[in-house]
Amino acid sequence: MNKTVSKQPVFRFAPSPNGQLHLGHALSAILNHDMAKAERGRFLLRIEDIDIARSTPDFEAGIVEDLEWLGLDWEKPARRQSEHLDLYRQALGKLIDRDLVYPAFLTRGAIKTAVGEFEAKGKTWPRDPDGAPLYPGEERKLSADARQRALASGKPHAWRLDMTKALAHATEPLTWQESGSGPDGETGVTAANPAAWGDVVLSRSDAPSSYHLAVTLDDALQGVSHVVRGHDLFHATSVHRLLQSLLDLPQPAYHHHRLILGPDGRKLSKSNRDTGIAAFRQAGKTPDDIRTMIL
Ligand code: GLU
Repeated sequence: MNKTVSKQPVFRFAPSPNGQLHLGHALSAILNHDMAKAERGRFLLRIEDIDIARSTPDFEAGIVEDLEWLGLDWEKPARRQSEHLDLYRQALGKLIDRDLVYPAFLTRGAIKTAVGEFEAKGKTWPRDPDGAPLYPGEERKLSADARQRALASGKPHAWRLDMTKALAHATEPLTWQESGSGPDGETGVTAANPAAWGDVVLSRSDAPSSYHLAVTLDDALQGVSHVVRGHDLFHATSVHRLLQSLLDLPQPAYHHHRLILGPDGRKLSKSNRDTGIAAFRQAGKTPDDIRTMIL
């Protein structure tokens, strides 16, 4: 793939249709839209609906309605990830061929039990930046034969990146240009630390791609030059930089913005209808009121 990013800046807002847009999403969408306009760039909408169990057409329609009401315009049609599953499968296939991923069979419950048993001895199991335990399974060590037999058993499995091997194959310095800031004020040239995530999931038994794989591929395919999103995804950028290096994809510039907190000081949640954009609209607020509240 051509590693130079096209000259005209490309921005995108990439919501998952598993709830209503709240003020935090509005901030992300408006920043992307306004930065694209200011730089005479393109503004794309991408519907990240690979989690089919939680994504619904009603939520997607609500997102479109809210964004239109906010006065944002994006290039049509929006890209819908569920329509490109083969592409994610192909990229995973390349990583399988290079032996950089392995099938992992522990269910969520089994992971919890393994970690719980370890921690019952008074020790702490390492956690990723989102607070989830690193994968305790050991299938990365299986011989090729044993792996084939495990796959042939038909047991559901995820594919996980073998982080140690992957880091050994990364071909460039894993840094990124941060023009916003991370949760601890990180800014400028930022060193990625993918190892903090352990063997991340790239595909699940019920979805051919994880967020990390799909977002990295789509940003590259859509020529996204600027990724503008909330602090909560700052650390995920480390995984995205590693995948870009492994899959020979261009690297965008990144801008992580503050999160909008609720009156209780916590991150807004999609299930809290009171802070939904639709609720503000129904209460008679205008798009300008929303801008005044968040910008
Ligand atoms: N789909 C992700 C979310 O709604 C955002 C992805 C991104 O901006 O990189 O949290």
